[in-house]
Amino acid sequence: MLKQMLTINNFINNEHVPPVSGQYFDTYEPAKGTPHAHIPDSTPADVDLAFAAASTAFQTWSKTPRAQRAAILYRIADLIDARLDEFARAESKDQGKPVELARTVDIPRAASNFRFFAGRILHGVEESGDLAGVGFSYVQRMPVGVAALISPWNLPLYLLTWKIAPCIACGNTAICKPSEFTSLTAYMLCSVLKEAGLPAGVVNMVFGTGLGAGQALVEHPKIPLISFTGGTVTGAKILTASAPLFKKTSMELGGKNANIVFADCDFEQALRTTVRSSFANQGEICLCGSRIFVERPIYERFVRGLVDEARKLKVGDPALKDTNLGALVSKEHWQKVVGYVDLAKKEGGTIECGGKRPEALQPEFENGYFLEPTIITGLTPQCRVMREEIFGPVVTIYPFDTEEEVVGYANDSNYGLSCSIWTENGRRQRRVAGAIQAGTVWVNTWMARDLRMPFGGMKQSGLGREGGNHSLDFYTELKTICLAD
Ligand code: NAD
Repeated sequence: MLKQMLTINNFINNEHVPPVSGQYFDTYEPAKGTPHAHIPDSTPADVDLAFAAASTAFQTWSKTPRAQRAAILYRIADLIDARLDEFARAESKDQGKPVELARTVDIPRAASNFRFFAGRILHGVEESGDLAGVGFSYVQRMPVGVAALISPWNLPLYLLTWKIAPCIACGNTAICKPSEFTSLTAYMLCSVLKEAGLPAGVVNMVFGTGLGAGQALVEHPKIPLISFTGGTVTGAKILTASAPLFKKTSMELGGKNANIVFADCDFEQALRTTVRSSFANQGEICLCGSRIFVERPIYERFVRGLVDEARKLKVGDPALKDTNLGALVSKEHWQKVVGYVDLAKKEGGTIECGGKRPEALQPEFENGYFLEPTIITGLTPQCRVMREEIFGPVVTIYPFDTEEEVVGYANDSNYGLSCSIWTENGRRQRRVAGAIQAGTVWVNTWMARDLRMPFGGMKQSGLGREGGNHSLDFYTELKTICLAD
């Protein structure tokens, strides 16, 4: 008997409602290459409904005492924790990532997003100043209104909650548009929000494509704020459409991050972490270090070590606990990534390992979008493969001789999201970290995340910063009030 597919509906005013058009499309399970859920193909009419709900809810939510808002956010975090395994299984099935990664990173970080901003709004104070003989000024932080929160497919719940938590903590209401490739955990979150007691209309989800639902949000004349995470090309389109409407925008975009390994590093630690920063989540993390530069004295040893480790990684069934790499998110994305492997060959590169589907997959995964971890050498920094974002389990390694030279390579990019540096020399750590043009620089680590710190990209990796006070600044308007003496 055929198993009935799940049908997802929009979430407006705390109710699940079908799209106005009645149209749905299929979303696929990447590991099997088969459809597993129907997603609403939302249109501007759905965005209008969500906007009506969100703007009504704003009247009350924006005036709800922060302690009450925080209490709800804490409950949301607790409920996500309580359903950790269920969320992790869904994220893995929907996105293709290993369930263990979802269980240890994506879902716990989603819960901590809510917990962090619940605490953050409870303990803030604003600026004030005495203008002796004239008056006294103080700052009032006001929520902005109804926010559009548009998220990508690579870390679905983690990145969506990175937006929802500060947005509603600050008293705004939201219309979320998760990626059309990964709607499942956003859909599950709806029931958590309701159970946590979040009033109707504070968070609404409109599912669908970028052109159908996303663009309608961006162009909506009464939505004053857009938080977007996704590709640089999409970011440019959103900025073009929203600029004449003077919307507040935060853009977290693509990357082509350098991973710089000096000869005086802790070799084993650098190698171990480079395996993760290259291939975690199938390389589909904007922070992955896909351009690896290794100082010449240890270049050959590092290449051999990384190839040996990459060959040991287990690619396959994402539901198994010991799987290291699951499937890429979609067939189109798999083709794009494999296209870059072909391009690397044309550009003169050597495929040291990977570059193809794994051979020994069980029959049920034969149509899945799997790709072996791929390491390429022999390309120069001018090659397209070393300059364009691939966003898959594909890295290049290139040797360097001097600090100055490698800083030049790292910065010679349209992107500036993150960078890792491996060296035991303290002065060099500070010198190189100081010279790198990227929003986050890790020294002897990777993916360490401190929610109190600014997060964002330089150059075409983004505009603005979120995290800690920066999120509060983005999700509020600051008003100065001056009282005469
Ligand atoms: P994408 O730009 O294709 O889509 C992102 C979201 O935007 C989706 O929800 C999509 O439906 C929507 N969208 C598409 N066109 C739109 C339009 N015209 N108007 C409004 N919304 C639209 O990105 P993706 O393929 O989902 O994600 C991968 C990209 O995201 C990579 O480039 C990656 O580097 C980037 N990313 C960046 C960060 C960061 O923090 N800087 C984090 C994760 C992913």
